[in-house]
Amino acid sequence: MYNAKPNFSDDYQESRAKFLAAMSKRGEVISIRHPKKGPDGQDLYLDFGIIGPDDARGALILISGTHGPEIFAGSGPQAALLNSGLINDYADLRVILVHAHNPYGCAWLRRTDHNNIDLNRNYYDFSKPFIPHPGYDVLRPVMVPTEWDSVALGKGLADYEAQHGKVGLLAAMVTGQSHDPDGMFFRGEGPAWSHIQMKDVLPKLTKTQDIVSVIDFHTGLGPYGVPYMVHGYEPGSSEFIAFKKAYEGEVRSTMDPADIDEDLPGSPEGPIVLGMKALLPGKQSYAVVIEYGTVPPEQVFGTLMHDNWMHAHGTPGTDEWNAVKQNVREVFYPREDKWKDMIWERAVWAVERSAKLARGEF
Ligand SMILES: [Zn+2]
Repeated sequence: MYNAKPNFSDDYQESRAKFLAAMSKRGEVISIRHPKKGPDGQDLYLDFGIIGPDDARGALILISGTHGPEIFAGSGPQAALLNSGLINDYADLRVILVHAHNPYGCAWLRRTDHNNIDLNRNYYDFSKPFIPHPGYDVLRPVMVPTEWDSVALGKGLADYEAQHGKVGLLAAMVTGQSHDPDGMFFRGEGPAWSHIQMKDVLPKLTKTQDIVSVIDFHTGLGPYGVPYMVHGYEPGSSEFIAFKKAYEGEVRSTMDPADIDEDLPGSPEGPIVLGMKALLPGKQSYAVVIEYGTVPPEQVFGTLMHDNWMHAHGTPGTDEWNAVKQNVREVFYPREDKWKDMIWERAVWAVERSAKLARGEF
């Protein structure tokens, strides 16, 4: 089996260098500079790698770094796909590799962008009214405290869970909100910088394709080492049925109540995968998230809240700051060889199936 491990990276700059080196023999790259700098003062870019014929019927789009610290589980497979030569199996498709969808978050190891916008809540029709989960404001003092106190956080979340159950707690936290810009899972008040770039570039790159099949790479939900596929299409829709066939049933929908549990606590509004319809109108799109489990949800969300607190009250480069960032990295990217092998193995499986959807085989 191909050893994919050297394609993985420990920071954004390393992952971008590997991506550009792997792309140099394969195709064109469009790089869009982000308005902010990284923690090392270097420029940040959203990169689009373009491979394959522009008149292909189908396009396959693989996205890394929608949530900053989750980039490594996506950029590793992106580079490995190119360096292993596996990309040649998809020579009949237009393949677009979106590297560091959220460049600021990738470089700063932050889930959100430079305006604290969670991109996976931002692909939303902002002309529509949005009703936040009523539990968000109840939990707000616990999730966004003035003083950091992990014991008080644990107690606050446990109290809410005792009343509403674990799925209720997770849903209240993660559904998204638009009224608390310094808070958690903030959707923004309009399209974010990355959203605007995607809306500008992706239609130009897929002008002649009828079908677009998308995988957005994530980590941090579900049990350690157990990857799973999630989409947001309604049960009974043609996309729902096609996904069941393509993924041999190993796929869940946030719109299917039977699939909701503590690993999939609800249906966030505005995920990138559902945004594809609006980004690429008139095309048949199939968009799915691959999630790789890491640590229990309490640890994942506690770490995100600590990171949010640090960005509001801390100073970059201090020991306290670096310790939180180290934690964020470990929670979303367990740097173990076994985990990297598992990521690659499942990515190969997922890409193969999504390519079939791009070819219109289902
Ligand atoms: Zn994510």
